[in-house]
Amino acid sequence: MKIFREPKKLQSWCAARRMEGRRIALVPTMGYLHEGHLSLIAEAKRRGAEEIVVSVFVNPVQFGPNEDFDKYPRDEKADLAKCRAAGATAVFFPTPANMYLDAHSVYVNEESLSKGLCGARRPGHFRGVCTVVAKLFNLVHPHFAVFGQKDFQQAAVVRRMARDLNFDLDVVVAPIVREPTGLAMSSRNTYLTADERARACALSQSLFAAQDEVAAKGSVPWRALRSRIARRLEAAGLVVDYVEAVRADTLEPATRLERGVAVLLAAFCGKTRLIDNAVMR
Ligand code: AMP
Repeated sequence: MKIFREPKKLQSWCAARRMEGRRIALVPTMGYLHEGHLSLIAEAKRRGAEEIVVSVFVNPVQFGPNEDFDKYPRDEKADLAKCRAAGATAVFFPTPANMYLDAHSVYVNEESLSKGLCGARRPGHFRGVCTVVAKLFNLVHPHFAVFGQKDFQQAAVVRRMARDLNFDLDVVVAPIVREPTGLAMSSRNTYLTADERARACALSQSLFAAQDEVAAKGSVPWRALRSRIARRLEAAGLVVDYVEAVRADTLEPATRLERGVAVLLAAFCGKTRLIDNAVMR
């Protein structure tokens, strides 16, 4: 497994592999890898990637001034071991200074899908995400890149960016990997105390209950269910950031829950902001 820290070196290596006809996949992450990340590597393998490039970069540009950039968990050694065991063929560990040169002044803005939901609560977040992902696409020029459904809006925004800026690659979205309790895996779960971890399950439980209700009834008015979900989260001691239902393909607000509608949740559990979602089937 190759390890790169210099963008230029990664770029030359990827270009050479592409010239040899190797099929390249990119898996962008912020590290502190867990089974959710590893499932993206497995998905890349399943789709026939011959080179799997995992990037590990806590991207300062996508964090707000009062967010957790400094305390975001990092463990380079463990990440390398996990990437190797999962079958990555290259890992990219850049530093902020070599990703953002002095006086860096070009950013990528998606101006529609990134407006609501997390975009409304985290100003500048998707500008940071789009900018770093565009840079990674240019460095790796993968045949496809794998993202997780865990960050539902992010996947939609990145897919739109790739379409609108003519990136020559496919954006693949892999399902959410959960703890046995239902809690969606996240590097940020490490912030949770045992008590918070138990209370955080209210997120996934609300989503599963909504899916069951839609499965039983076919279509459910969103307003009433929305308040029930909010109350359930509050009863578990979470502070609701948003509870929304959107068309999974367009992120347009839905008034009824039915097949193809996604319920998206964000809530604070103590100081930790957690997100989760499910598409109704
Ligand atoms: P992160 O390191 O949190 O920025 O995540 C990197 C990638 O892994 C993103 O595409 C995430 O959506 C994906 N990811 C994170 N957690 C999970 C999970 N529990 N299941 C599936 N994908 C995930």
